[in-house]
Amino acid sequence: MPKLDRIFVVLMAIFGVMRAKNYFFKSTSSVVPCILMALFFACNNQKEHPKASLTDSLPPKTVMAIFAHPDDETTVGPVLAKYALISDVHLVVATDGRYGINDHSGIPAGDSLVVIRKKETACACAELGINPPHFLEAKDGLGLNGKHNFYMQAAALKERIHAKIEELKPDVILTFGPDGDTGHPDHRMVGLFTTEILLRENWANAIDLYHFGWTKEQTKKFPKDWGLGYVNPNYLNTTIHFSPEEEEKAFSSLQCHKSQFSKEAFAEWIAAERADTTNVLYFRKFALDSALLNAF
Ligand SMILES: [Zn+2]
Repeated sequence: MPKLDRIFVVLMAIFGVMRAKNYFFKSTSSVVPCILMALFFACNNQKEHPKASLTDSLPPKTVMAIFAHPDDETTVGPVLAKYALISDVHLVVATDGRYGINDHSGIPAGDSLVVIRKKETACACAELGINPPHFLEAKDGLGLNGKHNFYMQAAALKERIHAKIEELKPDVILTFGPDGDTGHPDHRMVGLFTTEILLRENWANAIDLYHFGWTKEQTKKFPKDWGLGYVNPNYLNTTIHFSPEEEEKAFSSLQCHKSQFSKEAFAEWIAAERADTTNVLYFRKFALDSALLNAF
């Protein structure tokens, strides 16, 4: 249908001009080439843009990327670097990452790690060229590690996400989908809370929500098995291409997270990304059918 719509619009535009200029009945010989040209351009255009893209229309004024931990933005780094040039881009980090301990850094869990991770995320945002990060100060593990009450943490975080959306008034929100990237419960929950808020507040048609998703093919490129979830390409209806320069900015921002990754881990990860020259990330636009149905 989209292809037919496009053909129809192009044909109507050409016929409209011809009619206005009184060509319509005088010169039928010119109509045939015009129709062929219209069909060529309509089909060709469709071929170049098989999926919707954030760049199909005017760029969004404000993009809000919301993820669980202070380093999750690395998942979509090149896309944030790309939109930093044309939109007001904000990163919202739901938890403070206090339990993100790693052998190579030897930094203990707790407040000192929170301070370091906040600095690392500020560094990452600066490298991407986006606004300084917003922290919602939940504790990672969201109470599921038995250290805090899950229901209290979840309820408080949900209201902070709500307030942040009201404050930033984004046109576009990027977050995790049901797979939660690595399947981490915090990732899944932040994506779900954000989706839930748009549904409960009647914002789902006013704000374009995009769930990030890997294809199965993309998950194979990484040096380690991170247990990444993936989505069938048929459902990843939004394709974002990025340039090598935007990818380089993402590599620089990734290397801010020194408490989380060793030098060797950075090198392996960046080498794997460089080997993938497709330079594309996918999202699934959360779209609602406006028709009211009476049955499944
Ligand atoms: Zn994470």
